[in-house]
Amino acid sequence: MLFDSHCHLNHRPLIDNLSQVLLRASDKDIGHFLVPATSSADWLITIELAKNYPQIYAAVGLHPWFINHITDSTLQQLEKILLQHPQIIMGEIGLDFARAHSLEEKNLQIKYFEEQLQLAKIMQRPVIIHHVHATNACLESIKRCHFTNGGIAHAFSGSLEEAQAWVKHGFLIGVGSLLLRSQAKKIHRIAEKLPLQHMVIETDAPYMAPSANQINHPVSLRQIAEIIASLRNCHWQDIATITSNNTFAIIPQ
Ligand SMILES: [Zn+2]
Repeated sequence: MLFDSHCHLNHRPLIDNLSQVLLRASDKDIGHFLVPATSSADWLITIELAKNYPQIYAAVGLHPWFINHITDSTLQQLEKILLQHPQIIMGEIGLDFARAHSLEEKNLQIKYFEEQLQLAKIMQRPVIIHHVHATNACLESIKRCHFTNGGIAHAFSGSLEEAQAWVKHGFLIGVGSLLLRSQAKKIHRIAEKLPLQHMVIETDAPYMAPSANQINHPVSLRQIAEIIASLRNCHWQDIATITSNNTFAIIPQ
């Protein structure tokens, strides 16, 4: 059974048609979903989904795109939710310097990223990290916070060397929809060479469709697993077993 380690079933249009989406996925042997929230607006709905569907696991956090409206009470609310739900991990959090247009904006992202890493540390939760043009800055924050709970470096697009740097800090590498683009050479190399014990797979649906105005769907996960399997000369079910176990291993029971 495949585990989509990053899928926004909590966002439109997937949430509007959820039973259909889950049925289509289960036809392709996709049976588990880790669903990260992105702002306080979707925390409760994400937790609700996890409550109602045994195949859904929730993560809550503040995505770097949505930190402009954060107040101290937002972080207190996050802490309260985590206390109430010991099985929920944190995500997605991180740094996106493609979206930061000034030093102030970068510093604001770093401030909330590190506050959330500290919270994850206190709550003993792993984190799902969104990182764009910010690998070094993310790793610096992780070191500065002495954060050792690990988690997932989501939507990985870097080199094998960068993947190894994340692995060194206890992170799994999220290999996903970029693989559907044949011109994305670096991720094909990761898919072929990264030891499978460090890999999880994801779609990021409804986002990251291979072409700009398409909607990505969790069924793409099967294709992602098949591409990895063909690069490694094994069966997609082997990829399913290992990456699902890797994802389960970071979810508190
Ligand atoms: Zn996401």
